[in-house]
Amino acid sequence: VYNFSAGPSAFPESVLKQAQQEMLEWRDSGMSVMEMSHRGKHFSIIAEELESDLRALLAVPENYKVLFLQGGASAQFSLIPQNILNGKSKACYLKTGAWSEKAIKDAGAYCNAVVSASSEDTKFTSIPEASSWLIDSQAAYLHYTSNETIHGVEFQSCPDSFGLPLVSDMSSNILSRKIDVSQYGLIYAGTQKNMGPAGVTVVIVRDDLIGHASKSVPPVFNYAEQAKNQSMLNTPATYSWYLCGLVLKWLKEQGGVDGIEQRNIAKAAKLYQAIDQSALYSNPVETASRSRMNVPFILADESLDKPFLAAAEANGLFELKGHRSVGGMRASIYNAIPEAGVQALIDFMAEFERTH
Ligand code: PLP
Repeated sequence: VYNFSAGPSAFPESVLKQAQQEMLEWRDSGMSVMEMSHRGKHFSIIAEELESDLRALLAVPENYKVLFLQGGASAQFSLIPQNILNGKSKACYLKTGAWSEKAIKDAGAYCNAVVSASSEDTKFTSIPEASSWLIDSQAAYLHYTSNETIHGVEFQSCPDSFGLPLVSDMSSNILSRKIDVSQYGLIYAGTQKNMGPAGVTVVIVRDDLIGHASKSVPPVFNYAEQAKNQSMLNTPATYSWYLCGLVLKWLKEQGGVDGIEQRNIAKAAKLYQAIDQSALYSNPVETASRSRMNVPFILADESLDKPFLAAAEANGLFELKGHRSVGGMRASIYNAIPEAGVQALIDFMAEFERTH
């Protein structure tokens, strides 16, 4: 079976097998990771390796903290303004799809969330030109969503920050392509797509942005407090941390972010080519903004949607239904989906088109 779910999503098979082998006992510790005290010597090793592997994979500079929090990326929509507004009343946002739209709505409870640019008029199938963005220099930061999981729109490079700290929701493309962390003020991501199971939210934040949180922020969501406590102000999601650690070690074996990026480019190119060449399938996103991770497509005849999904499942191709808000299909081809999985999907789509 190939699982094209948008998240939680497919895991590398070797990671699942390793977790299975270590389920009862982790490295001669006499216990399962699930049974370990988060402050004990065994779990300390897991926690240290998790942070150092993530720092190495993303080349995180010394002057950034790496936090592993709870609450999902959605909690960050509200927590970012509360932590880093630092007395300012405005923040700029790029509206390029459903997730940035949610981030804007939630931030609006804490500040004036200025929409600097929006692609809503194209139904979120493009990214507005940077020359048209209306940036307020008094804003505390500029927020964007590097990959819109629902609309399949991805920034292909780090955008201009116009002198503001750049904040990016990388939930659905973290670790899939090379980034230069030093260009960002803050990067955040739920782990349940490219980094592990659900239950952990990574926040990578530049030192100078923390320590000025609003007094009403609960301590467990205060970046400076969590940084002081190695993200263990309270009990962390220990087993999820461990699984994230295994995924990172797997990623290192794949040649790190550079290695996986080459494979991701090849996978996405193949699938878009198959869609563009067909008469039955189409993808509405402008070519330059197409996501390498989430590939939405529609069938020319909507009445074929159900038969398509049923036949796909019968062929071991799961979770291809598009998000309920946009309909159609969506193939999420994160790091863990091998090229063979994408090829199996392409072959199936061609055969379905031939017979329908
Ligand atoms: N941001 C993006 C880009 C997402 O894809 C998702 C979830 O799919 C979220 C935020 C919300 O994440 P969570 O469910 O962890 O709150």
